[in-house]
Amino acid sequence: MSIRFFNTYSRALEEFQPRASASRKIDMYTCGPTVYSRAHIGNFRAYVFEDLLQRHLELRDYKVCRVMNVTDVDDKTIRGARAAKIPLAEFTAPFKQAFFEDIETLRIKRANEFPAATDRRYVDKMIAMIGTLVSRGLAYQADDKSVYYRINKFPGYGKLAHFDLTQLQSTGRVKNDEYDKEHVGDFALWKAWDEEDGDVKWDSPWGPGRPGWHIECSAMATAILGDQIDIHCGGVDNIFPHHEAEIAQTEGVTGKQFVRYWLHCAHLLVDGQKMSKSLGNFYTLPDLLERGYTGREIRYSLMRVHYRAPLNFTWEGMEEARQALARIDDWLERLHETVAGKIDPSKADKIDLQPGARFEEALDDDLNISAALGLLFESIRETNRALDRNELGAAAANAWLQWWERIDSVLVIQPEVASLPAAIAALAEARMQARLAKDWRKSDELRDELSARGWEARDTKDGQKVTRRAGA
Ligand code: AMP
Ligand code: ZN
Repeated sequence: MSIRFFNTYSRALEEFQPRASASRKIDMYTCGPTVYSRAHIGNFRAYVFEDLLQRHLELRDYKVCRVMNVTDVDDKTIRGARAAKIPLAEFTAPFKQAFFEDIETLRIKRANEFPAATDRRYVDKMIAMIGTLVSRGLAYQADDKSVYYRINKFPGYGKLAHFDLTQLQSTGRVKNDEYDKEHVGDFALWKAWDEEDGDVKWDSPWGPGRPGWHIECSAMATAILGDQIDIHCGGVDNIFPHHEAEIAQTEGVTGKQFVRYWLHCAHLLVDGQKMSKSLGNFYTLPDLLERGYTGREIRYSLMRVHYRAPLNFTWEGMEEARQALARIDDWLERLHETVAGKIDPSKADKIDLQPGARFEEALDDDLNISAALGLLFESIRETNRALDRNELGAAAANAWLQWWERIDSVLVIQPEVASLPAAIAALAEARMQARLAKDWRKSDELRDELSARGWEARDTKDGQKVTRRAGA
């Protein structure tokens, strides 16, 4: 079966055909955090969905190049820096760092690049793009010295959001700073400096100022990935105006289709409302970790519902995630024990129970994780039943474990090192101490001991990692 995704642009399920079908390279751009505070788990629902998407495409042998921007200049970051009476970069730095810690905790694969909007290279590109738009009559400088996009001049404006421009004209109140615009829907490309901005400003042909949020993404996406990309993601709140504006800006400059597939995830809700900073109904990752939930439990809870369906955050949902993972852990433990020959082999492999490809096929179908997880738990039930009856032997158990390794490259919910069996954790700790003491012989002996017990110790740049030995 081919892969299909729901494309927001067409509002239809479409067969996935990336531009470079022969090389299987995919360019993917995902809108990242605005670093004015710690991201909340609603934001992370979007990032976990994007991670699942990337990992599934990689499982299907695509080579994904992913870019995620970091918005480190906008109204909110400037306001925060002013309130804290520190320079903008100093204000955003700890939130950037917290973001990277959080994606690590959630096992989200790092993007190939995390461009920052304040990087001189990208500011130059933003200014160049705005210059082209002005020269083509697609943008204009208003009396307030800011530069706006002239949305009436871009015929495709509104197509992504399926939005009727006339509706924009009829929306009643207009904010003060919008009186200078030709059309209420025209959006700022370049915001002229004012006192509130303090020392946050760059020179431009239109005077000192700073870029608008939308142009940041157009510039960073095209600077790194080129004029055209395969997939662009975000949460549904990004569709309008942010992504609509990105299309108008980028295509207004390049004259080419910017994005092939637009994928948007539904919101994480709390009591039926979007989890958001402004409503104050949010939790951060440290909030949940403090309550005793682990990164993989949070990852699982954010991932388990189809990305286009709203997901309600509840503590019961967190408990369900915990129980689901405990079932998987028990199942893996039983399979490992079976492979290690702790059951009567004479009775084994009486039934022909084989892992199939259905899990991956469910994900091919617009990333249907709910169906895929349903199949996983159905497999767990069936294999457990066969294990209860001593009808599933070492070879079959091994096949299931290999299947698990494959699907876990997408799920990434393998138990954490901290939940290693006590004896294994003790050996791992002893090996780490031996390595610190540069006692290589002892370290190797302990590695062998772990291996004999079915565990593999690897030394990575992040330190020692102990995992189940494949096929053990
Ligand atoms: P922001 O920092 O507000 O620009 O949001 C960063 C990303 O998180 C965007 O892709 C948003 O669409 C997404 N996002 C924000 N709130 C939620 C939510 N409650 N549920 C899912 N995604 C969200
Ligand atoms: Zn963006």
